[in-house]
Amino acid sequence: MNSSHNHNRESGKRSLDFIRTIIAEDLKNNKNSGRLHTRFPPEPNGFLHIGHAKAICLNFGVASEFGGLCNLRLDDTNPSKEDVSYIESIKEDVSWLGFDWQDRLFYASDYFDRLYEYALELIKKGKAYVDSLSADEIRQYRGTLTEPGKESPYRNRSVEENLDLFRRMRNAEFDDGACVLRAKIDMGSSNLSMRDPTLYRIRHMVHHRTGEKWCIYPMYDFAHCLSDSIEGITHSLCTLEFENNRPLYDWILNQLDAQCHPQQIEFARLNLTYTILSKRKLLELVESKSVSGWDDPRMPTLSGLRRRGFTPEAIRNFCQLIGVAKFNSTVDIALLEHCLRGDLNIRAQRVMAVLRPLKVVIMNYPEDKTEELKAVNNPEDPEMGTRKVPFTRELYIERDDFRQDPPKNFYRLSPGREVRLRYAYFIKCEEVIRDGSTAEITELRCTYDPATKGGDSPEGRKVKATLHWVSAPHSIKAEVRLYEYLFTKENPMQSKEEGDFKDYLNPKSLEILKSCRVEPFLSSACVGGKYQFERLGYFCVDPDSFKKGLVFNRTVSLRDTWAKIQKAEKKASSRVS
Ligand code: ATP
Ligand code: MG
Repeated sequence: MNSSHNHNRESGKRSLDFIRTIIAEDLKNNKNSGRLHTRFPPEPNGFLHIGHAKAICLNFGVASEFGGLCNLRLDDTNPSKEDVSYIESIKEDVSWLGFDWQDRLFYASDYFDRLYEYALELIKKGKAYVDSLSADEIRQYRGTLTEPGKESPYRNRSVEENLDLFRRMRNAEFDDGACVLRAKIDMGSSNLSMRDPTLYRIRHMVHHRTGEKWCIYPMYDFAHCLSDSIEGITHSLCTLEFENNRPLYDWILNQLDAQCHPQQIEFARLNLTYTILSKRKLLELVESKSVSGWDDPRMPTLSGLRRRGFTPEAIRNFCQLIGVAKFNSTVDIALLEHCLRGDLNIRAQRVMAVLRPLKVVIMNYPEDKTEELKAVNNPEDPEMGTRKVPFTRELYIERDDFRQDPPKNFYRLSPGREVRLRYAYFIKCEEVIRDGSTAEITELRCTYDPATKGGDSPEGRKVKATLHWVSAPHSIKAEVRLYEYLFTKENPMQSKEEGDFKDYLNPKSLEILKSCRVEPFLSSACVGGKYQFERLGYFCVDPDSFKKGLVFNRTVSLRDTWAKIQKAEKKASSRVS
């Protein structure tokens, strides 16, 4: 996080970022006849990720704030990487985030005919030529940042010859790579984007929308500015890596006397700690089966975050907090989690669930008795009311909540000690039962104090801990999947010498607990349902639940002191050994 964002956040006021400042000024000056029109232009070659959410919130956000429009445009100019399933996921994700393109869903491929006509026009104006150098040669001729490029021997073909060759390119008379159409700009330019960039290339490929109609496809730089112009975009917002392409964006529109000349404005892309935000690399994770799919709950994709239990509100709030700036920075993933907790805290139903059950038998509680105890559904929202939780002689508590030999600041259950069971009674541990052969603790024998019903002692006796629990006979078995960061390194996108980003995959990023027990209230849980398991964190019902009984994903933990105690314990035990 950079400090200016922090400042805005803490002051609570929303000062205009540099893009909103430009837009407000343009509208005030009646530029573009007072119109504002933006677009979100993903290439359908992968699933959208949290970085795209930043661009979506920006483009749709400014449009709605300033009374403009925002298009969804699929930038589908490269059939070798694209797929209709990606298009469907993109539409689903943008809607889920809460944005509406209304009737303005467009495809760059809708403009292929017009783009072809524009290319002919450039050729006729002597501003584009067909080059027959090979791809390698073009690269060599291109020069470097320190050396100017060299002109192609085909650069000065006549307009007639270029028109003829380009038409024949289109008519499938050449193989892939035999020639390309290039802009005729300046091989000596200090900007490599301006050294006669390629505008069209030959690809004998079926396109997911235009089928076999085309065997030549426009390059991004050519298609993008013209698509923006065709759609009447006023402000073309893109990420910083396109800064060097801006002169080309403008050059193409100027050569063609475009009626609408959008203003390209670059902003910094989102980078997040412990996270990879590149569709190409995310695809690698999917293809190498390092994750279960694009929607694996560990993925930073919107479908992964949704499955994990993120809400659109949390993501939109995060995007607002990080703001937009002109310089690159990396945001701490803890901020994203903070936004998530803030949202789930107010909306999530509280329930009790035991992840690693340890049986407790209340020796002085009648065997056939069940009490229905009142529990609060959400202390943040009284309107969510209360529910009944069954209490019986046999219960489960969390294995972690008991220690035979408690360390100094462990206040939970241990032999002879009394604790509170949430919404229930005080119980005291009288006896520890162990398995004869493994010595594993199998059961705790406890007593309860009937006078402490509801969780308070009438004579003001204090206990230091309150534990969650479930009734053994009433609880439902569930699978719970715990997640950690997918990478062990804050910045897994390191330099080549440090190896591949996949070397830093966290082997502990997924832990599956199969014999968890949740309170019976959750028998009515639906896929996507979000709950706070008291003391444990926020959990969300996974779609796998249809197949496997109840399956929960841990969305995010609570900021619990447990982690701290464990740390201290570890330290102490390492000191001892
Ligand atoms: P990736 O690098 O993940 O492959 P991309 O830029 O190739 O992303 P596009 O489909 O071209 O993906 O992106 C659509 C829009 O989203 C573009 O305007 C792009 O600038 C923006 N965008 C992509 N990644 C980020 C990010 N990390 N932060 C903000 N905006 C992003
Ligand atoms: Mg891109």
